[in-house]
Amino acid sequence: MTQLSMARQGIVTDEMSVVARKEGLSPEAVREGVAAGRIVIPKNVKREFSAEGIGAPLRTKVNANIGTSPEYYDLEEEKRKLKVAIEAGADSVMDLSTGGDLSAVRRMVLETSTVMVGAVPIYEVAALLNSRARPFYEMTSDMLFETIERQCSEGLDYITVHCGVTRRAVSLAGGSNRVAGIVSRGGSLLAAWMHYHRKENPLYEQFDRLLDIARKYDVTLSLGDGLRPGAVADATDGAQIEELVVLGELAGRARDADVQVMIEGPGHVPINQIEANVMAQKRLCAGAPFYVLGPLTTDCAPGYDHITAAIGGAVAAAAGADFLCYVTPSEHLCLPDVEDVRLGVIAARIAAHSGDIAKGVAGAMDRDVKMSAFRKALDWRGMYRMAIDPYLPRKRRDGADGAHAESDVCTMCGELCAVKTHNIIDGGKPCKKGEENGD
Ligand code: SF4
Repeated sequence: MTQLSMARQGIVTDEMSVVARKEGLSPEAVREGVAAGRIVIPKNVKREFSAEGIGAPLRTKVNANIGTSPEYYDLEEEKRKLKVAIEAGADSVMDLSTGGDLSAVRRMVLETSTVMVGAVPIYEVAALLNSRARPFYEMTSDMLFETIERQCSEGLDYITVHCGVTRRAVSLAGGSNRVAGIVSRGGSLLAAWMHYHRKENPLYEQFDRLLDIARKYDVTLSLGDGLRPGAVADATDGAQIEELVVLGELAGRARDADVQVMIEGPGHVPINQIEANVMAQKRLCAGAPFYVLGPLTTDCAPGYDHITAAIGGAVAAAAGADFLCYVTPSEHLCLPDVEDVRLGVIAARIAAHSGDIAKGVAGAMDRDVKMSAFRKALDWRGMYRMAIDPYLPRKRRDGADGAHAESDVCTMCGELCAVKTHNIIDGGKPCKKGEENGD
């Protein structure tokens, strides 16, 4: 039985209890959210780890993409990326490998990860054909579904499947309709396959076959946005909305089949359109959790796209997005390295937390109150504990030699420290509210 089927029968599973404890909610509230499809708990029946929930009213979660490419394969480096992503606070990792021994990478990720693991099965089919110098249109629907079944049986907690890339939606993304065309790898491959064969997307046509596989292992379907805008000028266009409407219909069919489902979203979106995108997704998909990539709010910041994505991610999370896929400084440029992974996770966590304050997620504002109380008390160790990234502030303030570690002020103002001055007139001693808060 899946988490969804048990929730519908009124059963609170161990996973629901774990999620409830982490989120400060009652187990019954989590069960109700899962039963209604507003919360998913991606956890393959074959994997053991501390479950996380995604959806309203839970904390906004963060995913880190790792994985090899046809140009670069280093299993040990992927292992380091996985470790760094989890240490930096990622709630999920996706193995997006497309080069080298894909099975070895996936096995390593599934065996090593202490968080949920996702993947995009069509990448393996494409990588296999590419390694044999065969064109992608030689894929058959059986190859695709057999790969999906095998990957699910290996333990993936969720899979991205671009089921909404229909012939009609693709026609709306073509020609002069878009500046950037189709930028999703999975979406572009399927569109090319459909164009060559003059056939409909097998993931759409044989959706029930997909549901049977997902239900067997309780794998959550992440309905991918293969036609997401890859340029801010393409945001919220006909192709994107047509795909979203299809995904809404498929989400309903998935729930009817007791399969957990979330919806993926853009992409590149101007700030003023982000809230409307979140509202449209929630409305069309009956409140299904929304998993967004970025969104990047400008196309003009290569090298800094972790910042561009964090700006959009914060706005999206505040508007109701539930799951942020990180973007690294290497986006649009090259395969991220280990430090890129760390920076990407931290940037996405800042965005997620900013959104959580705005959404009123339990405990989010409390953390900032504690941080500010420590700041007022000039309690630097307390501040490090509350920091989303404790490493960088410690390094910046204490310096490489630790020379400033024992000073009550910092080198910005020295003894002209405004906080210290105000503490003198504010009762004559620093506020200790942080300690009262138990930290
Ligand atoms: S010295 Fe200046 S920057 Fe540093 S804590 Fe005091 S007021 Fe803030």
